[in-house]
Amino acid sequence: MRETPHAVVHYSEIGLKGTNRPFFERTLAQNILRRVEALGGRGRTERLSGRILVHLEEPWSPQRWAEALSTVFGIAHFAPAYLTALDMAAIQEAILENLPEGPVSSFRISASRDNKAFPLTSPEIQQELGAVVQQKMGWPVRLKGAELDIGVEILRDRAVVYLGRVEGPGGLPVGTSGKVVLLLSGGIDSPVAGYFALKRGCRVIPIHFHSRPFGNWMGSEARAREIVRTLARYGMEPYLYVVPIGKQQREITVRAPVAYRVILYRRLMMRVATMLARREGAKAIFTGESLGQVASQTLESLAVVEDAAGLPVLRPLIGLDKLEIIAIAERIGTFSLSLMEGDDCCQFLMPRRVVTHPHLEDVLRAESAVDMDALAQDALEGASRVEVG
Ligand code: ATP
Ligand code: MG
Repeated sequence: MRETPHAVVHYSEIGLKGTNRPFFERTLAQNILRRVEALGGRGRTERLSGRILVHLEEPWSPQRWAEALSTVFGIAHFAPAYLTALDMAAIQEAILENLPEGPVSSFRISASRDNKAFPLTSPEIQQELGAVVQQKMGWPVRLKGAELDIGVEILRDRAVVYLGRVEGPGGLPVGTSGKVVLLLSGGIDSPVAGYFALKRGCRVIPIHFHSRPFGNWMGSEARAREIVRTLARYGMEPYLYVVPIGKQQREITVRAPVAYRVILYRRLMMRVATMLARREGAKAIFTGESLGQVASQTLESLAVVEDAAGLPVLRPLIGLDKLEIIAIAERIGTFSLSLMEGDDCCQFLMPRRVVTHPHLEDVLRAESAVDMDALAQDALEGASRVEVG
């Protein structure tokens, strides 16, 4: 396959309803362009019924197209494409010029015709072009499960030809489901939770807490920045909020019962996250929690921490096993980053014994020893927005 400045993008239409549809398509087209531009391409998109054509100023290799489009949520499948004049000889030539060299166990032609004035019907196009390819290459035709699917789309004034479609990441275009914040620790789980928030069409604003001025907070912040940079490929906002809470954590350790420390740290995070979310117009808080994974993720712990949040807390990993989460983290490129040096701020002054099945009354009693609102306000004032470029 040659380099080409064009690609055709198909999205899944399931669940796309009347008035939603233009918004969905417009957002998807914008996200495609943004991604293409991030990789140094310049061009434009063209919205057709059920698909989007992307046109660049310079041709790209199929690998580069795949690198760009395989991270844009909302794409069901895509293919680098060739545009031709609206006649069978030109279409045939575009196909023959771009056939793969290696052996192909079976192929098919899939034609679709928006332009009903074209003299051949879709089955006729398929038959005619199928015969040509078979004669030249000797490959067998297979209508179901062909190795190579050659697409031919007859538009009003041109034809689009593509060889082999590539699976997209599915999901919904980022920006079609509203804004959320993500509690991003730098561990293995929360980046994966962020990936799922993006996949369902959320704009995701990450918030990272660290223990500055104590411990290796610099490593922790650097790690969070790298994770955000990597998830920006999937449409995450290219910035994060960094909130030092070392001072407030020390206050909690001095005043509150030892066994409730971690729960109170977490409740402090929820309060600050809620305030930042409101400021940003975000409507939910995503976390990387998974039921029962660690002592702090029992149903009781999740409940008493969530109690301090003023917005819905969403946990996309709730039903996943650790190994499943790790496999996703590897695939999306965050796993190795999570192994970078840096202190987890919940380990800061971590007691030996913690309460694993807390009751809310006990938590509130423990919390009454500190002025949580003041601590949260103080932490919020220390928050800064860090661009990852
Ligand atoms: P992760 O791998 O995401 O750190 P974990 O299994 O280590 O998860 P915990 O450390 O108990 O779990 O944290 C649970 C969730 O709380 C995290 O997934 C994250 O959403 C949030 N969280 C924990 N620490 C921080 C932090 N320092 N900054 C922001 N969010 C945090
Ligand atoms: Mg963690």
